[in-house]
Amino acid sequence: MRKILDPEKVKHLKGLLKRSTRIVLTCHVHPDGDAIGSTLGLWHLFRKLGKEAAVVVPDLLPKSLRFLPGAGEIAVYTRHDPYCTRLVDEADLIICCDFNTASRQDHLAPLIQGSTAPKVLIDHHENPDMECEVLFSFPKISSTCELVFRVIAALGYYEEVDKECATCILCGLITDTQNFTVNCPDPEIYEVLMKLLEKGADKTRIIDECVKACSYDGLRLKSFALSERMTVYPSHRAIITYLSKEDLSRFHYEKGDTEGLVNMPLNIRGIVYSIFVREDADQIKISARSRYDFPVSKICEDLFGGGGHIQAAGGEFKGSLEECLSILKDSLGRYDSFLPSRIERIDWRND
Ligand code: 5GP
Ligand code: MN
Repeated sequence: MRKILDPEKVKHLKGLLKRSTRIVLTCHVHPDGDAIGSTLGLWHLFRKLGKEAAVVVPDLLPKSLRFLPGAGEIAVYTRHDPYCTRLVDEADLIICCDFNTASRQDHLAPLIQGSTAPKVLIDHHENPDMECEVLFSFPKISSTCELVFRVIAALGYYEEVDKECATCILCGLITDTQNFTVNCPDPEIYEVLMKLLEKGADKTRIIDECVKACSYDGLRLKSFALSERMTVYPSHRAIITYLSKEDLSRFHYEKGDTEGLVNMPLNIRGIVYSIFVREDADQIKISARSRYDFPVSKICEDLFGGGGHIQAAGGEFKGSLEECLSILKDSLGRYDSFLPSRIERIDWRND
């Protein structure tokens, strides 16, 4: 495997790890498989190394990730503020995974930023913007979990990776690449996959829980969104799908029920990008995905102060659903110049 990590940084991190006894691992709000997989994977390793480690997350994890070994030990800030505060106050090292800027931690940000403990950032988003002692930032890598695996190997702790640690790390690889369908052109990711499987990572369980599993209502909600709330914008090669508060409550929406929905319209031939807009209780959540390197991160940044990756991004909007949808529709034309010049016709009959 190519050695992509700067040996000086690896040495620095090893020194920090040797000196610390209480390590807090933390990630972004609305944690996904990569955020939980990377923090929890390192948590297993550090415990094996005899450290007192704790994963502290801004808010609750979705149902699909609760099967991960150790998930029950995670400290959730919105649930246990005093406990999380104590863990962060007592930490002598803080490792931040899968986010590039403090605001991605929402209400947890002031606590983490207020700590005087040295910070390490391990991430794969563009333009990291956080004070830290050691930074591993690789925007081209498949997932923070792949990066965590490489960091562990470079530190010389590969032998200490057990089945539980490997399962957590594989979870992020699988979820961020949508089960090895996007963002995985580098053949070395399959070498990482092989090594994790050799360690006994439970791939079947990850696929069952994170790729396949949904509830009866969740499946009906997605079907409803696709049949009733999806609009094609042919000249922009775009699709916008939305779900209103009323739509969500009609199908007894639970967190995680719309996971993967934004990807589905991209299956239509000739569609370049898909945007999903969900009217949550306190804000509008925007999720976007694209093909051909069309920069949905730019749309999310420009219109909603969000961001992410070129082909997978998101943002938040404080205002009404109608306002959000009209801003989006009115702005699509601004991004036509990013469309590929030659592209197949949309497989779509407009009637
Ligand atoms: P998702 O659509 O799954 O919520 O997020 C896709 C990607 O966009 C993730 O990499 C995530 O980090 C990023 N992302 C999602 N929501 C936001 C947001 O509100 N702000 C920023 N900066 N990035 C986001
Ligand atoms: Mn990620």
